[in-house]
Amino acid sequence: MKITFLGTSSGVPTKHRNVSGIALEVGENKNWFLIDCGEATQHQLLNTKLSTRNLSAVFITHIHGDHCYGLPGLLASTAMSGRTETLYLIGPAKIKQFIDGVIEATDLFLTYPLEFLDVETLKKDRSFNGIEINVIELSHRVKSYAYQFSLNEQSSKLNIEKLETLKVPRGPMWGELQQGKDVRLEDGVIVKTLDVCDVLNQTRQIIICGDNDKPELVARDVDLIVHESTYTRDIADKVGRGPQHSSAKSVAAVFEDIKLPNLILTHFSARYANVAANGANKGPSILDIEKEAKEHYSGNLFLADDLDTYELSKSGELIKCRRN
Ligand SMILES: [Zn+2]
Repeated sequence: MKITFLGTSSGVPTKHRNVSGIALEVGENKNWFLIDCGEATQHQLLNTKLSTRNLSAVFITHIHGDHCYGLPGLLASTAMSGRTETLYLIGPAKIKQFIDGVIEATDLFLTYPLEFLDVETLKKDRSFNGIEINVIELSHRVKSYAYQFSLNEQSSKLNIEKLETLKVPRGPMWGELQQGKDVRLEDGVIVKTLDVCDVLNQTRQIIICGDNDKPELVARDVDLIVHESTYTRDIADKVGRGPQHSSAKSVAAVFEDIKLPNLILTHFSARYANVAANGANKGPSILDIEKEAKEHYSGNLFLADDLDTYELSKSGELIKCRRN
């Protein structure tokens, strides 16, 4: 499972960060999901290898503009590329109202069916391309949701005891059996891969959250959570409860409690500057968020940057990849 950040700023874009958008690639094929689509998400996609031709579904976490104003442009450009396959759009009911209004007012013709699924009806588990989707309701000024993506896979592991019992000689035959091929022994006996391999069921799970001031709502036993950390605690206190965002401290503390193995923070307030090359930052810096999160969380922590890609391996290890 691969996740690419297309925008990591909260509310407004900055010179270094666009507004929210995350691409999720699952499995071996080229199909992918888009979670949120802030303005200029399609511009950010031009800097990746992802094509909207292979986009299976767009999930919108909530109706705020920094999470959905890029949708009309993306849908229009996708039509201009001649797409004919259905594109699924999942989100709160107002997303449909917003898109229907733009389509009508701007005389937009889509070359493909756009099938809208209200997130409220998706609350029951549903699967796309073999990925199970679960919806979690969050706490924000408007209805906001997290999407949990679960990929169930089977893998096989050679059982040495069984290989020895059946007298399969160590060497190339072991490799063939591991690859799922049956082999014939010297005495003519056929050994089937199922006779000597144990089948392991593995599930990789990622939760990608919309805006939320109660991280405990998504405290689940998964491999990775992507959560907003709009402020540090001091700024969150100054701003007050109004915007209903989380601080680095509140997010980190909740996920430390449940021993979450991997946490990626994103959606940073534009007031947190990227660190200057000479280290000469005057105001609040993104390092303040990192420092505060590290004080309260001891797992594998990352602060997302635009166009960063992370891969969640089959063993549940999160690796930061080179930029696209
Ligand atoms: Zn919001």
